[in-house]
Amino acid sequence: EDEVNIIKSVLDLREKLVVDIMTPMEDVFTLSIHCILDEKLVHKILLNGYSRIPIKESDTCFNYIGMLLVKNLISYDSDDKLPVSHFPICPLPETFSGHMAVVSNNPGSYGGALGVITLEDVIEGLIGEEIVDE
Ligand code: ADP
Repeated sequence: EDEVNIIKSVLDLREKLVVDIMTPMEDVFTLSIHCILDEKLVHKILLNGYSRIPIKESDTCFNYIGMLLVKNLISYDSDDKLPVSHFPICPLPETFSGHMAVVSNNPGSYGGALGVITLEDVIEGLIGEEIVDE
């Protein structure tokens, strides 16, 4: 039965839209480049458990400039209260390469972001089932 479902999902994939498998922006955990990484915020980041956090140009806009990789915070001491801008911000891929892309209906701009899509979302679309994170 699993095999039948997987084959069916693969055949359906051609008609599957990015918007159907992405995580919508209202559910995405994002930060502004100016946020101060104090103890409370670092705790929140760890509780959320995501590996990548889309970074906005400011608190009030929805212009995404890149991603913060949470692994870069491993040796960070939150008493230092540094802003997100202190850390390397990975550029968002121009095409769907890399692990995560921001979905926009405005090619070349991440202004009107609709959501994010990761390899996990694509693989879930491919096998037609939710992946439970290990
Ligand atoms: P992670 O390694 O952070 O668990 P995955 O690439 O395994 O991320 O994706 C797991 C799910 O979490 C996917 O549905 C993806 O769209 C979603 N996701 C990834 N990053 C975020 C984020 N910052 N906020 C909300 N959802 C996210």
